[in-house]
Amino acid sequence: MAVSTNAFEMAQRQFDHVADLLKLDPQVREILRWPAREFHFRIPVVMDDGTTRVFTGFRVQHNDARGPNKGGIRFHPSETIDTVRALATWMTWKCAVADIPLGGGKGGIIVDPATLSVAEKERLVRGWVDVMWRNIGPRQDVPAPDVGTTPQMMGWMMDEYSKLVGQYTPGVITGKPLGGGGSLGRTEATGYGVIYTVREAMKHLKMDSTKCVAAIQGFGNVAQYAAIGFIEMLGGKVACVSYYDREDRVSYTVSHKDGIDPHFLMTITDQYGSIDKKKAIEAGYQIEEGDAWITKEADVLIPSALEGQINAETVQKISPRVRIVAEGANGPTTPEADEVFKSKNIFVIPDFLANAGGVTCSYFEGVQNDMNYYWTKEEVLSRLDTKMTQAFHGVLEMSLAQKVYMRDAAYMVAIARVVKAMELRGWI
Ligand code: NAD
Repeated sequence: MAVSTNAFEMAQRQFDHVADLLKLDPQVREILRWPAREFHFRIPVVMDDGTTRVFTGFRVQHNDARGPNKGGIRFHPSETIDTVRALATWMTWKCAVADIPLGGGKGGIIVDPATLSVAEKERLVRGWVDVMWRNIGPRQDVPAPDVGTTPQMMGWMMDEYSKLVGQYTPGVITGKPLGGGGSLGRTEATGYGVIYTVREAMKHLKMDSTKCVAAIQGFGNVAQYAAIGFIEMLGGKVACVSYYDREDRVSYTVSHKDGIDPHFLMTITDQYGSIDKKKAIEAGYQIEEGDAWITKEADVLIPSALEGQINAETVQKISPRVRIVAEGANGPTTPEADEVFKSKNIFVIPDFLANAGGVTCSYFEGVQNDMNYYWTKEEVLSRLDTKMTQAFHGVLEMSLAQKVYMRDAAYMVAIARVVKAMELRGWI
C-alpha cells in the first residue's frame, strides 16, 4: 500500500501542536523542529556477478542534548530522507519519554534486502560503516537494526567499526547477535514492551485482559512478540496478524476463528515477516487481501508494520469495539486518523511510548557492553518492565493532569526533558 503522507511533515505537525500547547520559545522550536545533522551518501558495492551497484544511504542525527544519538538503520526500497528525518525525530522523543540518556538518530539505505545475497548484504553494511565511522561511536551515535536489517548485519557493522578504530568496540551498535555483544531479551523487547503498556492501559481502563481480543498489523519482530505477549502475559486472544507479500505485491490478513497461534505462524514466516500463505491455509487459517486486519472485531489494535497505515480512509473501517490502539510501529497513525480516535474516545498508546522497549533494551545492551558483564534474560525483561511501566505512568499522569490526549502528553513529557537538558548544557 502506498504511503500518501510525508512522515516528516507529520512529525513536525505533531511537534508544532505540542509546542503551541507548551508555548515553547521560538528559538527552542527552531532547534527541535529540524535534525541537527544529516548525512546523505552513495555506497558502491561489488555484486556477486562482478558488477558494481551504487546504493543511496542516509544517517540523520536529530538531537543529542540528553546523550549520544540512537536509532536503527532501515533497509527499504521506498526509503526517503523525510522518512529517516521523521524516525530520527521520534527517536529523540522516544528516548526522552523512556527516560534513557540517549538522543535521536536514524539511518537507512534504499534497497530491498531480499534482492541481495548474504555476501552482498555484508559488503553493503560494511560500506555504510566505511562512510559513517567518523560520525558514529558509543559516545556519538549508536545505530541498531530496524525494518529490513538483522542482528547479523549489526555484528558485521560492529566488526567493521572495530577494525577502523583499532579496538573492539561493541558499544558502537546495538541489536548485535548473542555471543557477539548482544543482550538477551532484545528480540522480545519491543513487542513485550508494547504489551507492558497495554497491560497498564487496561488496568487504568478497568478492562479484563483475559476477555480481550487484539488485531495486529504486521508479523515481523514487533508484531510476533506483541502477539505472544498478548496471549501469554495478558491471557487474551489475537484475532489476526498481517503481512506484505513481496511476490504478490499486496498485504494479507491472516486470521483464525479460535485466535492465531503466533508460535506456529513463526515456523512458517521468513526473516522479513512474510508468512507462507499456502501452509497457513493448510493449517486452517483464513487469508484476506488488503486492510482486513483493521476491520476485525477487537478491543485492541496493534499496528506493527509501517508508518501511515491508519489514515483518514482506513480509520473509518475500525470496529466500534476498539478501546485501545497501541502503536507498535513508528508513525502508523496520521493526524486525520488521530482526530477520529479522539472523537471516539479511543485510548492511544503513542508509538514513541508503546515501542520504546526496543531502544530501552538497546540502552541496556550498551550498558552491558560498557561493563563487559551480561545480565540474564529475566534481569533484562524485569528491568524493561519497570522502565516501560514508569514511562507509561509518567505519560498517563501528564495526560490526566493537563487533560490532554495521550500523544500530546507523551510529547509534553519528552519535550520538557529534552528542553531541560538543552538548558543545562547552555544551548538555550
Ligand atoms: P519487520 O521488518 O520485522 O516486520 C515488518 C512487518 O510488517 C512484516 O511482517 C511485513 O510483512 C509487514 N508489513 C509491511 N508492510 C505491510 C503492509 N502494508 N500491510 C501489512 N503488513 C505489512 O519490522 P519490525 O522490526 O517488526 O518493525 C515494525 C515497525 O515497528 C516499524 O515501524 C519499526 O520502525 C517499528 N519499530 C521496530 C522496533 C524493533 O525493535 N524491531 C522498535 C521500535 C519500533
